[in-house]
Amino acid sequence: MHEIQVHNTLSGKIEPFVPLEAGVVHMYTCGPTVYDFAHIGNFRTFVFQDILRRFLKLRGFKLIHVMNLTDVDDRIIANAAAAGLGIREYTEKYVQAFFADCRTMSVESPEHWIRATENIQSMVELIQKLQKKTYTYDSEGSIYYRITKFKDYGKLSKIDLSGIQAGARVDNDRYEKESARDFALWKAPKPGEHFWETTIGPGRPGWHIECSAMAMKFLGETIDIHTGGIDLAFPHHENEIAQSEAATGKPFVRYWMHAEHLLVEGEKMSKSLGNFFTLRDLFGKGYKPSALRFALASVPYRRQLNFTFDGLQQATSSVERLRNFAARLKNEKFPAGKQAAMAERIAKAASDFDAGLSDDLNTAQALAAMFDFVREANIAMDKGEFRQGEVKTAQEFLATFEKVFAVLEDNDAEKLEALGYGGNEGSPADAEIEKLVAERQAARKRKDFAESDRIREVLSERGIILEDTKDGSVRWKRK
Ligand SMILES: [Zn+2]
Repeated sequence: MHEIQVHNTLSGKIEPFVPLEAGVVHMYTCGPTVYDFAHIGNFRTFVFQDILRRFLKLRGFKLIHVMNLTDVDDRIIANAAAAGLGIREYTEKYVQAFFADCRTMSVESPEHWIRATENIQSMVELIQKLQKKTYTYDSEGSIYYRITKFKDYGKLSKIDLSGIQAGARVDNDRYEKESARDFALWKAPKPGEHFWETTIGPGRPGWHIECSAMAMKFLGETIDIHTGGIDLAFPHHENEIAQSEAATGKPFVRYWMHAEHLLVEGEKMSKSLGNFFTLRDLFGKGYKPSALRFALASVPYRRQLNFTFDGLQQATSSVERLRNFAARLKNEKFPAGKQAAMAERIAKAASDFDAGLSDDLNTAQALAAMFDFVREANIAMDKGEFRQGEVKTAQEFLATFEKVFAVLEDNDAEKLEALGYGGNEGSPADAEIEKLVAERQAARKRKDFAESDRIREVLSERGIILEDTKDGSVRWKRK
């Protein structure tokens, strides 16, 4: 086994990973803000942190991992008020959808799921600590953090603080990189908004104090790993450090690990560009959860991931290749005996796999170790050189792989059915077919024949036959 090394955003370096308490990893992940369905960019980060926790467990660590659900922030308050619903009522649908998405994507549950709204008192106490140490000031019923008082402000994101204006404040939970400003720890209630009556006054917590308070409550004052998307490094994580370290005088996080952005077909994902996809959009188009998980996991987390439909198609084939190989091991009868060279080959693959993941979670290298082995083993099987004596070790290696990547088990159909897609309950609805037909027409128009063929295939699998007419229109019927 290889020494585990990870990139720490705080130091900007690759460092050996050694937890504070031997054998135990205390880890925190910023979870979703539950005001909408999760999109593939969100799940790039959630799949990354899942691979990380699975690998650490594989290497024998006990995990104490917390993921929070931000169920109160600016957008939730505004959306809930607009919908005429309470916060809990409004967010519950998205909380349940997120849990279902995690199950579908084989993202393991952390040891603790925590809701911000159930930990308001811890946030209030942390703010009181900061008040006592004079890191705060009040203004119009809100409480702000004075960032000039925290001399290490900016150490995570390396933000340039030369233009910083003392006393310049920001009330939004999310703000731009250029504006390092005093941020709200506690916000005074606005008319019609949800608020809590507390010892520091009526109001609601800012987004940043939520994570500091919940991380320290469940994991202690110094935690091993904090993960999130790179877009959270500033201001969110910078502010978490400022709050936590000012309150305790201790280092808050030992390893900060951030996943890079995801692009879609080379562009930033945005609703206005029409390239914005929730997981459910893709499942509705007939893509499998295993393929999506594979596609998101296959690019090392610190590299930008360019999500493409070609790539997703390749991921589908890659998963298929692995499942076929697993089936071959299980079902075929090989000549009896052992072959030393193959036994060595399997040991090398397992070692390369571990080396890849140990090297700052280099998933591409770990996958290459698996696929190189599969290719060679398939050739050996075709030539009749693979022996029965190697089946068990090869299966053990696949099982190790599965503990981290979790794509071998062929349960996509059940998962999709559980989410309300596909299944055997009958043919897809007309509206869904029309939507796919229109997408195929659009693909043909832009001469993306791979995509148009793929959609034809998806429809065919679901019992729909397409007939292209001379005038370029298309008819469809059920088989
Ligand atoms: Zn957070």
